Order: sequence, then structure tokens, then C-alpha cells
Amino acid sequence: MRVEAVEVLVAQLSLRTPVRSAGVTHADKATLFFRVLTDEEPGWGECSAYPDARSPDPTVEAIEPTTVDRAIARLFAGSIGATLPPAESVAGLCVGAGSVGEQSVAGALEMAVLDAELRSASRSLASLLGVAHREVAVGDVVGIPPEHDLGTLVDAVGAALDGGAQRVRVKIEPGWDHAPLSTVRERFADAVLQADANGSFAPGAATGLRGLDAYGLACLEQPFAAEDLQSHRALAESMSTPIALDESLWSLARVRDAVLAGACSVACLKPGRLGGVFATIAAAEACAEAGVECFVGGFFETGLGRSVNAAVAGRAEFSLPGDLGDPDRYLAANPFAYLSQEGGTVRLSDAPGLGAELRSDVLAVHRTSVRRVDFGS
Ligand SMILES: [Mg+2]
Repeated sequence: MRVEAVEVLVAQLSLRTPVRSAGVTHADKATLFFRVLTDEEPGWGECSAYPDARSPDPTVEAIEPTTVDRAIARLFAGSIGATLPPAESVAGLCVGAGSVGEQSVAGALEMAVLDAELRSASRSLASLLGVAHREVAVGDVVGIPPEHDLGTLVDAVGAALDGGAQRVRVKIEPGWDHAPLSTVRERFADAVLQADANGSFAPGAATGLRGLDAYGLACLEQPFAAEDLQSHRALAESMSTPIALDESLWSLARVRDAVLAGACSVACLKPGRLGGVFATIAAAEACAEAGVECFVGGFFETGLGRSVNAAVAGRAEFSLPGDLGDPDRYLAANPFAYLSQEGGTVRLSDAPGLGAELRSDVLAVHRTSVRRVDFGS
């Protein structure tokens, strides 16, 4: 397959309802897409760039155009008018020093190349990844409600469970920890609950965090700063609640370090942050070998990125429900139709490609820029 051009598009999207986690409220979502044009089928990729307050992830503004152009140049260096590199080689070709920004761009380019490859070969992503079962469990996330209102929180958790979520991740922060979790646990005794602190607690808060053992949480996610594996290990040794990491896991090497350090027994793995599908599967394999459970985390993707995440989550290494709810529920406008979701499961597609279908009318309305890098003669 020969590459003819790469289009770089930015769309201004927004969440239906703002979602607050510790230190940041997500509302607007600039989203960067790639379209790879080939002499066979084209392919689409979505960039995950969407940081939290304390995450290593970039904004779209931070990576477009410099990091994007550098990655495209690396990917196609010496291949003007020539063969499209295989998807499995994309991350290795694009990622230079290995910054998270470069990895997020590499993940999006890999996605576009994968889509083109799969459509041209009439093959689905689930088939390529060797996913045994097409039904994949869906989890949901509930943000911190305005004015810390417990009634609003209970309603939101109830709505997530009514929507079929097989686990609910409740966002917490200092001062909003025991009260929300005890209230939710009291109301939903059998629900699978996780708490996600997004790195907002200081190490000195460990004593108070140990009390969260009372709420039967499936895990406590990222209580401390992303760099601080030591405090996570110390807390893990003193709590019965499993400790999960998310923001700390920004590369395969970092996942291995965290696992070796005993800093987590659950891993939230994000394909966009880690540099794509294959990097994420390698990280999940490292976790599985060490007995660390995994789930796929989300960045409020459109149907495109989320369909890819769902296929990854179908792999056997991912034993916990991922952030796989339908983007139509949280995006005011979603330019890619998602997989079919029924209750607490999403069904992976066997159609050629990634499983998502472009809604060109939606993209046309929300697209704010498009540029094209040509590779033809
Ligand atoms: Mg998290």
C-alpha cells in the first residue's frame, strides 16, 4: 500500500455536561484527527491529547503542529511515494525521545495506518488482535458534582448503573473522599465501585486514605502524584484496598517499574498515552505476567478512539471493565458512530476497519482546521 497524503484535522467538540475531577473540569474538547490517504483504502486516527490537572498528557495546542509534523516526517522518512509502513512499526518510527506528547501522536498515526490496513485487507481490529469474545464489559466514570452535592452524586451513580455500567469509578479529591464513598456504598451495596483521586492527595494524607478500606472499593486509583511510586507502594502495603495507577503509567518502561516496585496491583492503561494499540498490549502483557489486573482507561474519545479501546479491552489481559461507554452519551456531537452497546456490554465489530463509522456531516460542522501533507510525486 502506498501513502499519498496525510490530513491533519482539528475539531472543537464539547461534553454534554462538564465532568470535574480533582483540579480540573472537562467541558470543551479540541480533538485532533489524522486521515491517511493511500492508493487503497483511507484510514482515520484520533489523538487522545486531553490532560487532567496532574497528568503527563498534552493538549492539542501543545502538539499541533510541531510534534505532529515531526512524527509525520519520521514516519515517512525516505518513503516519498512509497510503501505505507506496517501499523506495528508506526510507534517505533514516530516516537523520538519518547515524550507522552510524541506517544499520543504516534498512537493516532498508528490508528490511521491500522484503519487503512484493515479496510484494505477486509479485516476487523478484533480479528487482528485475536479477541476471543465480541462482548466486552463496560465501566463508567462519575465526576465530582457541583458544590459537592451528595444527592447529585447518588443520582449520577444510579444513572451509570441503570445504564448497565459493570463498575463505576467515582472521582474524589482531598475533602471529598469519605463522605461520597460512604454515601454511595450505603445506597448501592453491591455495586463495583472504584475511587479515582487523579493524583490529588499529598503523601501525608495516607493515614486518612487507609480509612477508605471501609467501603469495599475494587481499587483506589492514583492517590498521589504521578512521579511518586514510593508513596503508592507504602500505601499499598498498609491498605487492603488494591491500589491502581493511571497517570503514573506513561510508558512500557514505566509500567514495568511500577509493577516491580509493588506500587500497584491494578493498572489503568490508556492506548493514546502509551503510544497505541501494540504498546498497550505489551504493557498489559507485562502486567498480566506480574499478576497485576488491567483495564482500559479513556480520554472522553469520540466513537473512533473508543472503538479501538474496546477492541484492546477485549484482549484476555484486561480482566476489569474499561471506560467503554457510548460517546453519544457524553459528547454533545460525536463525529464517529460507536459500536453497539447493550446494557453493560459493547459488541465489537467484525466489519473491516476499526469498528467506527465517520459521520461526515458532524465532522464538517465542528471542524476548525484541516491541512494536508502530500507524499505523492
Ligand atoms: Mg484515572
